[in-house]
Amino acid sequence: MLAEHGEERTAEVGEKLFEVGDESYPFIAIMEGEVAVLDRTGGEIVRHGGSGFLGEMNLLTGQTVFLTAVVTKPTRYIAVDRGVLKRLLFEDGSLSDLLLTAFVERRELLQQREGIGIEIIGPLGSSETRRLLDFARRLRVPYSLITPEESEHTAALIEQLDPAEIPLVRLPGGGELRGPTNGELSRALGIGLELEQREEVDLLVIGGGPAGLGAAVYGASEGLDTLVIESTVVGGQAGTSRRIENYLGFPAGISGTELTSRAVTQARKFGARTATPYRARALEPGGKRHVVKLEEGNEVAARAVLLATGAEYRRLPVEDLDRYEGISVFYAAGPPEAQLCGAQRVGVIGGGNSAAQAAVWLARGGALVTLMHRRADLRETMSHYLIDELERYGVAVRDRSEVASLHGHEGQLEAVTLTDGTELSFSFLFLFLGAIPCTDWLGDVVARDADGFILTGADAGADGLLETSVPGVYAAGDVRAGSTKRCAIAVGEGATVVRLVHERLPPVTAPHR
Ligand SMILES: Cc1cc2nc3c(=O)[nH]c(=O)nc-3n(C[C@H](O)[C@H](O)[C@H](O)COP(=O)(O)OP(=O)(O)OC[C@H]3O[C@@H](n4cnc5c(N)ncnc54)[C@H](O)[C@@H]3O)c2cc1C
Repeated sequence: MLAEHGEERTAEVGEKLFEVGDESYPFIAIMEGEVAVLDRTGGEIVRHGGSGFLGEMNLLTGQTVFLTAVVTKPTRYIAVDRGVLKRLLFEDGSLSDLLLTAFVERRELLQQREGIGIEIIGPLGSSETRRLLDFARRLRVPYSLITPEESEHTAALIEQLDPAEIPLVRLPGGGELRGPTNGELSRALGIGLELEQREEVDLLVIGGGPAGLGAAVYGASEGLDTLVIESTVVGGQAGTSRRIENYLGFPAGISGTELTSRAVTQARKFGARTATPYRARALEPGGKRHVVKLEEGNEVAARAVLLATGAEYRRLPVEDLDRYEGISVFYAAGPPEAQLCGAQRVGVIGGGNSAAQAAVWLARGGALVTLMHRRADLRETMSHYLIDELERYGVAVRDRSEVASLHGHEGQLEAVTLTDGTELSFSFLFLFLGAIPCTDWLGDVVARDADGFILTGADAGADGLLETSVPGVYAAGDVRAGSTKRCAIAVGEGATVVRLVHERLPPVTAPHR
């Protein structure tokens, strides 16, 4: 099938099939021969031979190439253009399964290696350096951090820069950015759609978590011109989960990254557009169209708006927390964090399932994990099977424990003191303290409850089930008052909104299916 859609080529030993810094590359299926994949310093990562294939996540996201492929034995291969491959993934379920799983796993392995991807150069004490580190992690872009403390050369380089130019980011292939915003870094890496100054759409979805992506798949497949804007990285909270075990259809569980990659591919298949990172800043209700102003200066006029901005992690009320965040205090545990934490003492704070999942994942990665929570008994807040897993993987549990202060140097945690005065040594801390809704930007425009969650249906005086106090503006998922905070519910609510939008709006284009 690949041969039908691609081009058969041959290559001699030493030939480069793609190189660090290239804007794009084709999917390469090797028929015979051998190709080595190298990092930016020429270090070999892996070799693929006959029946193997080259490529990873950036084939789908469009990111700049950060690996080099060199032929090591005379090779015959099929090159399939990126655009054509994407179409094939929509059409062929088994190819899509094989490639998506391999791409996600390859990206996770690459994230654990040095010498790949972008270089972020700046002092750890700088909040801007930490912002970009956090963004790179959430983007799942492989990166290396280089601090002035590491060498005189770097210290001298940083010394010459204006504070606004810190951190310096070196891109694969040699480009350089000074003090970039998250958007500038994304664009430079070739990620994400760039919006026009003013866009007009049928359905604007604000937030690219499960609720937003659910609405995007159903909206676009039912013929609505659908745009999703996301302030950080698509996937939302679910995208940060190590393994979602209770999502229908995945009996062995599925990682948040894979679920998200599949959902985005599916939404795009039906023609939905996803634009990142763009942050909604104001909603101005209108008669025919509502206008949403974005922090980046663009505006989107939409016949219907879905608020699916979910919730954000609650922070720990201790002094100097921001000095540690992104360096030794985290809100998600993924492969880069697991690698940092191997054989280290790690504290996980929280009594919910997300805390348990992270604790188990870190313990399995070789960390010595203590889980701390406020209540007397974990069974009040955690699923039974996860309590068993904590025991199975040797996670120590401390009931009635609250952290009062952090101790360390230059962002590197050394110990914490609990409110009862106990001091515990930890090199890393993971916080899973529940979430607050991302709704501040809405002000009084839509009715919210006392905690800031958006009211819908009868509670908001609205006709539609998931409609807010503003007709034509809907809310779904974790951001909605009274919703059950689960992936499947968020997806279902997002999909339901599409039906409500259809009831309100006359159809504009023919449905896809
Ligand atoms: C670590 C972890 C593990 C979990 N495990 C499970 C599990 O195993 N099973 C399960 O069912 N549930 C699980 N959950 C819960 C589940 O992930 C959430 O219920 C679900 O993600 C909610 O989806 P949502 O789309 O409503 O919101 P979110 O996932 O919070 O997504 C909202 C999105 O909106 C974006 N956004 C916010 N403000 C703006 C703005 N102004 N402009 C543009 N974009 C904005 C955010 O960046 C975010 O990406 C887990 C959650 C976490 C944190």
